[in-house]
Amino acid sequence: MLISVLITWLTLFFLSKLLSLKPLPPLTSSVRLVSCWWFWREGRPPLGSSAVCEESHKTEDDAGEILSILDLPDLVLECILQKQPPDALCRMASVCSDLRDMCLSDHLWERHMRAKWGRVIGSTARQGWRMAVRNDPASLEPRKDLLGIILRKLWPFPWVQSRSDCKITSLVAWYSALESGKLWFPAQVYNRENNHVGFILSCYDAELSYDHSTETFKARYLPHGIRRPVAVEDGVAWERIRAPPVRTSPRDLHVSDCLSDLRPGDHVEIQWRRNKEFPYGWWYGVVGHLESCDGDESFCRCNKSDAVVLEFNQYAPSSRWRRTLIDRKDHREEGNEGRGFYGGIRKISSQDEISVWKRLWPTQPLE
Ligand SMILES: [Zn+2]
Repeated sequence: MLISVLITWLTLFFLSKLLSLKPLPPLTSSVRLVSCWWFWREGRPPLGSSAVCEESHKTEDDAGEILSILDLPDLVLECILQKQPPDALCRMASVCSDLRDMCLSDHLWERHMRAKWGRVIGSTARQGWRMAVRNDPASLEPRKDLLGIILRKLWPFPWVQSRSDCKITSLVAWYSALESGKLWFPAQVYNRENNHVGFILSCYDAELSYDHSTETFKARYLPHGIRRPVAVEDGVAWERIRAPPVRTSPRDLHVSDCLSDLRPGDHVEIQWRRNKEFPYGWWYGVVGHLESCDGDESFCRCNKSDAVVLEFNQYAPSSRWRRTLIDRKDHREEGNEGRGFYGGIRKISSQDEISVWKRLWPTQPLE
């Protein structure tokens, strides 16, 4: 690993020469300087000591000159920081105030947020984080392991007293709150309640909390009815979670903006609920052909009809859930207590989304 660091260092050295930047220290000193930095990356520096902060990131060259990692050209230091994983950034941030400001800056953490949380965090979750910070910041205190200990030292609780201070909403604070599991965030879960047969190929809203030790989530689903308890599921894997693709609440009818475009073969999700006390879930289906059409593309006029056939081919042909009809021009919630209620539709254009549904396809037709 040290060899790769040295290779990176040499590359950056020649890059800085080419760009006529601030000169780097001699190689012997560089090795020691990198080693010093490596120590802070891999080791566990004492926290909160100003004397240590003064000296910890410095070393001497052969002439006795004091060198610091902060003496590196800005571009080089920036390149190094951009390559660091979250725990390394936190360790470096604990060395001194200068490194803290650099290592906790939002632009460094945007990449980490996007890489780890981007697929499951939506705009509603972002709003929820801001509300949690405003209303109950103490509940978001970082966890007790090393990253948590470091973040605890850095945790900007004094800033909370000045709620207009934006640092409490920094990305590193949000990242830490998500990692700790203390922040419940809204998202959607495929095949809720441990792939219960009644929810296969659906996606339901839930509040989620991350368990760092198992790298899974705990899900709290909206209750089905006023007197029903909240359903809870542990051990939900990453691949069963997504950020809500639309901002529509699970209690509201989604406004369908794709009806005029629907044609056979299109992939869709439609809201459905068992009765009107239940929240909606999103169910996967495809647009089919009308009974009057044999499916021959040369003669198919199904896309001109006001009636649109939705097929749910995960169900057996005899199942009452296999097909339903909606009105293209005047679609609103349709159904009854026996069949359930069909709500708004969204057309799926993303191949990634379609592939997720296909990955969840049941091994046998459902009844
Ligand atoms: Zn047709």
